[in-house]
Amino acid sequence: MSSSLQTPRRDWLATAFLPFWPFRSSTQKIGGVRFDIIRRGRSTHRYFHVHGNETTARELLYEHMRKFKGTGFTVQSLERQVALGALEIDPNRMFSREGAEKNLRRVNRNYSEAAMQNALLYLERDRHKFVKAILPPEGGLLIALHNNGPGYSVQTEVPISDEVSLADPQNPREFMLAVNRDDFAILKTSPFNVVLQDKAPPDDDGSLSRLCTKLGVRYVNIEARLGNLEAQRRMLEFIETKLP
Ligand SMILES: [Zn+2]
Repeated sequence: MSSSLQTPRRDWLATAFLPFWPFRSSTQKIGGVRFDIIRRGRSTHRYFHVHGNETTARELLYEHMRKFKGTGFTVQSLERQVALGALEIDPNRMFSREGAEKNLRRVNRNYSEAAMQNALLYLERDRHKFVKAILPPEGGLLIALHNNGPGYSVQTEVPISDEVSLADPQNPREFMLAVNRDDFAILKTSPFNVVLQDKAPPDDDGSLSRLCTKLGVRYVNIEARLGNLEAQRRMLEFIETKLP
């Protein structure tokens, strides 16, 4: 492994400032991007926190896993983008080569073609193992936790969704996105906004939701405004108690 491909010092420093996590047991990495794994008991539920600057989601994940069983993954970074070799990438665009390449070309400036190909190869090397580690067992549920800023809400997703239930239109930034029709049928009985996207659009953006749609994996993303821990907690508890 060349030195330029090792975990950058910046990421190590970022994790040094995180609060003490009693659950941290091991890590899983993809292309040098490290995730802490939190394990508690046996369950078919998996939790995934991919954007380091979405700190409410990370806080909720650790809080949740004091009460509920499952396996959680949280990125070792406090920033949205992570280093991939000499380049930067949005870690929620790593799940397909096509999506990763589009994101790498958009995010980075003045890169060499060699750096681009290196970054893509680096991802290819780890992706299969990483995806295998984070996906739930057959029939299990993958729950992603995200926080948003003012530019994004359920209204962004409505036009590209197959079904929509807007039970809380006053709070459009708080919503859930499901890719499984049976899960959606249960979630739409909640007092929260929910959208269903069960058909993969032709362009693959490299996100985990797109991968789950393709693979037929049950996946629910919980979106909440950064700082709105209470709303995100209520949605997560609804999922935890109502979905198998
Ligand atoms: Zn996010």
